[in-house]
Amino acid sequence: MVHSSPPAVKMAGKIVVLFDFDRTLIDGDSDGWVVAEMGLTPLFNRLCSSLPWNSLMDRMMEELYSQGKTAEDITECLKRVPVNPRIIAAIKSANTLGCDLKIVSDANQFFIETIMENHGLLGCFSEIITNPSFIDQVGRLRIFPYHKSSSSPHNCQMCPSNLCKGLVLEHIRASNPECGRQRFIYLGDGKNDFCPSSKLGDGDCVMPRKNYPLWNHVCSNPTLIKAEVLEWSKGGDLERILLQLINTISNEGKIVVSNSILSNPSDSKSQTIPASAHELCPHTHPVQN
Ligand SMILES: [Mg+2]
Ligand SMILES: [Zn+2]
Repeated sequence: MVHSSPPAVKMAGKIVVLFDFDRTLIDGDSDGWVVAEMGLTPLFNRLCSSLPWNSLMDRMMEELYSQGKTAEDITECLKRVPVNPRIIAAIKSANTLGCDLKIVSDANQFFIETIMENHGLLGCFSEIITNPSFIDQVGRLRIFPYHKSSSSPHNCQMCPSNLCKGLVLEHIRASNPECGRQRFIYLGDGKNDFCPSSKLGDGDCVMPRKNYPLWNHVCSNPTLIKAEVLEWSKGGDLERILLQLINTISNEGKIVVSNSILSNPSDSKSQTIPASAHELCPHTHPVQN
């Protein structure tokens, strides 16, 4: 996809940066971390084919409760989840620069808030859009789907029933029509990040993590992506590319094409890799190892 240079438009709105959580904001997978660290791998592997992800994680929390593990034990486990220092710096800088930062994740509220608070990042985000969770009256952590209705809560074929991130993006876009144009930057790695990526418009940007499923889908379906595409691999890349992008949008009101994996169609083809190598469920991978 080659973007011809549109006339530069001075930015009149704001920059909204949407972060996926697992394998994007943190390097690993928060659900997988808790399952592995708290000794739930055998039960998880036994049940993973019969329960949807959301119900499976709620069942894992029930198991912890039945073993006498408390929410504090889960908190202590989550406090050991590392966050790349370059990504911490990128989030703090983007926040200081006036961007509106949000997390859109299929993990859950308790895990994400605990990890972000532990790294001093919770206050940088205006919103965390994820599966809700709470500690019930007996002290068990409960996890529920973001979209509440169990029968076809959304019409999206690309997303799991509990959360369509594309629908979330459309709600965010529609929620502030009075404050001018919103420019979106979406960072993600997973297959369920393709739906929101495909709903971004010209002037927005998607930052897929290289060699992860979203990157593969974007490379394989360039005509479905209207946004600029800037890939990244490590935390340092994320920081550099994100801050450069924010700077460029702020100053010029348009997005540069440098670093774009889709700026040359032949390049994008040469980077396309067989889908089979990248279709592993991102959630189950660490747990099985
Ligand atoms: Mg992810
Ligand atoms: Zn969707």
